Amino acid sequence: MSKSVLLLPGDGIGPEIVSEAEKVLHKVNDDYKLGLMFSTDLVGGAAIDATGDPLPAKTMAHAQKSDAILLGAVGGPKWDDLDMAKRPEKGLLGLRSGLQLFANLRPAVLYPQLASASSLKPEVVSGLDILIVRELTGGIYFGQPRGVRTSENGERQGYNTYVYSESEIRRIGRVAFESAQQRGGKLCSVDKANVLEVTRLWREVMTDLAQEYPDVELSHMYVDNAAMQLVRAPKQFDVIVTGNMFGDILSDQAAMLTGSIGMLPSASMNSEKQGMFEPCHGSAPDIAGQGLANPLATILSAAMMLRYSLGAEKPAAAIEKAVSKVLDQGLRTADIMSPDGRQVGTREMGDAVLAAL
Ligand code: NAD
Repeated sequence: MSKSVLLLPGDGIGPEIVSEAEKVLHKVNDDYKLGLMFSTDLVGGAAIDATGDPLPAKTMAHAQKSDAILLGAVGGPKWDDLDMAKRPEKGLLGLRSGLQLFANLRPAVLYPQLASASSLKPEVVSGLDILIVRELTGGIYFGQPRGVRTSENGERQGYNTYVYSESEIRRIGRVAFESAQQRGGKLCSVDKANVLEVTRLWREVMTDLAQEYPDVELSHMYVDNAAMQLVRAPKQFDVIVTGNMFGDILSDQAAMLTGSIGMLPSASMNSEKQGMFEPCHGSAPDIAGQGLANPLATILSAAMMLRYSLGAEKPAAAIEKAVSKVLDQGLRTADIMSPDGRQVGTREMGDAVLAAL
């Protein structure tokens, strides 16, 4: 049965980078006879301009019917002064919650060809390959009650609630254990069980789940130590699983170990394996429309989409190999430029990946 892919280019560099990924997807669709059907819709600032709404009902309905979504990025200065509820980011959040995308997968892979782009010593990061699995729809970012109140003595008080139910922990735990099974077989669960009861439960549930995955070696680490270990000896990790807030911070930290945000893909999945795939970076308004954006994070997001939502491992691996090959050829967009590299623009980089395929 044919599968449907929705492309949501969004704003800023979004349309430029998604169109390069689209070329690559069309090629593997033909070469591997995947039978994918593509369509495009509006989200973020582009949707606000056209309809007044960052996530029009038509886009949401379209997303719900799709097997997978490839998103560019949303946002930009043009929409910065809008009310919180009407800003482009609301489009993203609406898609995540509307589709119940509870599992965020962010690989941090350092291509050996780019080892000098990292701020850490090449020997510390060369060959780095970590996957961070972050719970995305629960925890302190969504817990109730929340707000700012005035206490009895008249002082204002801000408060949030850090809450996870056992079933929420279990379902993200399963994604992480299964990911570890497909990779190096090691899972590190990150919590703050020495201080927070909610993460003590997190640790208990992860330990309990481990019995179902005897082939995965589970360890636990406090989040403060994990932050330290990520810069001290990041190659000790294979898969890391953690809650929404710790994952938000640690995944950005891990991303930067690799040097360029233009290289990092991500996936957000629900329990039906429907997913939204997007580069980790934003809409880069400072370089939009200039052909300078690095399309590789989006092309690698398309590879993740093939692997995780569309069950097409071979073309996914072929795309990743093609990306490595263009880096071997010395082709570099401005963000990853090195003294011995040859600088290319967005389209040229996309064409090079196509040729390498
Ligand atoms: P950004 O990631 O857009 O840009 C940060 C820096 O990285 C900029 O200098 C930019 O030029 C560079 N950069 C980003 N992607 C690049 C690429 N593919 N190739 C080369 N260079 C790249 O973050 P920002 O400047 O903080 O945010 C800009 C806008 O993007 C804001 O409106 C923000 O709200 C939005 N944003 C959206 C998302 C998303 O859609 N998921 C995520 C983060 C930020």
